Amino acid sequence: MSPVATIRDYDVVIVGAGPAGMTAALYTGRAMLRTAVLERGFPGGELLNTEYLDDVIGFPKVLGHELAEKFAAHAKQFGAEFFETTSVTSVKKMPDGYFHTETETGDIFRSPAAIVTAGGTPIKLGIPGELEYAGRGVSYCAICDAAFFKQQVVAVVGGGDAAVEEGDFLTRYANKVYLIHRRHEFRASKILQQHVFDNPKIEVIWDTVAEEVEGDPQSGMTGLRIHNLVTQERRLLDATGLFVFIGFRPNTGVIAGHFDHDIMGYVLTDNAMMTSMPGLFVAGDLRAQLTRQVTTASGDATTAAIAADKYITRFKEMQREGSTTAEREALESSHVSAGGYT
Ligand code: NAP
Repeated sequence: MSPVATIRDYDVVIVGAGPAGMTAALYTGRAMLRTAVLERGFPGGELLNTEYLDDVIGFPKVLGHELAEKFAAHAKQFGAEFFETTSVTSVKKMPDGYFHTETETGDIFRSPAAIVTAGGTPIKLGIPGELEYAGRGVSYCAICDAAFFKQQVVAVVGGGDAAVEEGDFLTRYANKVYLIHRRHEFRASKILQQHVFDNPKIEVIWDTVAEEVEGDPQSGMTGLRIHNLVTQERRLLDATGLFVFIGFRPNTGVIAGHFDHDIMGYVLTDNAMMTSMPGLFVAGDLRAQLTRQVTTASGDATTAAIAADKYITRFKEMQREGSTTAEREALESSHVSAGGYT
């Protein structure tokens, strides 16, 4: 903490303003909880990297940034205070049971509960054109974007489970899928590999890396330049889509102290979205779960917000009653062992 740091008191602090954070803010606002939402950029999260979505119920086709604006306006309507361009450096549980959420300017947001919805980051290839055509041909989510590539030719990069599974999924829409892997052997499980080898719409291109995404400002991506590392051949694939599956990093770095997580670093929660650190809830892409969709992020954030409200109410009651730390710990552990609030 810097010597001039200010400490602001809230009921709940939400880290991240993607679909999960904004949904959580809507619900904590409606519950009349004093809510601070800290977002390092602007509200929207991955929505801001997505051109169109067609899988949000009620919105058959909506621009990512439009949906982000609607979410933010709706969340703010119930009183949550949004702090944009505010980077969080740590969320730490203090001995008195309060969380201190510290920003890069050294300010502290103090609250009995925190909801971390900081998302995750798909690992990028880092090639020219990749970011320029992100959302306009380049994607990191087949379930989200496959339907935009009906009857088209797309390329997938990667050789793990995600690449082979999503490549197979893409053939439901695309006419042809090039599966490009930098080695001559997939890392993916054998059963998933077999689906790919049995699928006539998939052509595997071994020993090859993607070098550049080509396109034009009007139509988006028009081709992918690739390089065979064995033959040194370079060629242009006539693909209008590129799906990159070379790994994903959950943004858990802000959580200070131990929390239970899976082997890939995703945060484990109970069914109320509470982590192994009582009072700390998570929702969205950094949580261990089957899938990472706008709808699941919103659903889990709804649960997290309602559970946080109940947690905060009990926390304050116990404080008023002068409860001892031991009693508070008993409440917290009973919550964890029960797997949810009643
Ligand atoms: P992953 O297993 O780490 O595989 C990443 C793949 O990307 C590897 O084949 C790697 O190549 C390649 N790669 C990495 N950096 C690259 C680069 N710069 N350029 C080109 N290729 C690059 O990641 P994942 O497929 O996302 O899977 C993550 C975890 O989720 C795994 O544990 C996986 O089992 C699990 N998962 C399971 C399922 C399922 O069971 N249905 C589905 C999806 C994910 P190399 O092989 O040469 O290193």
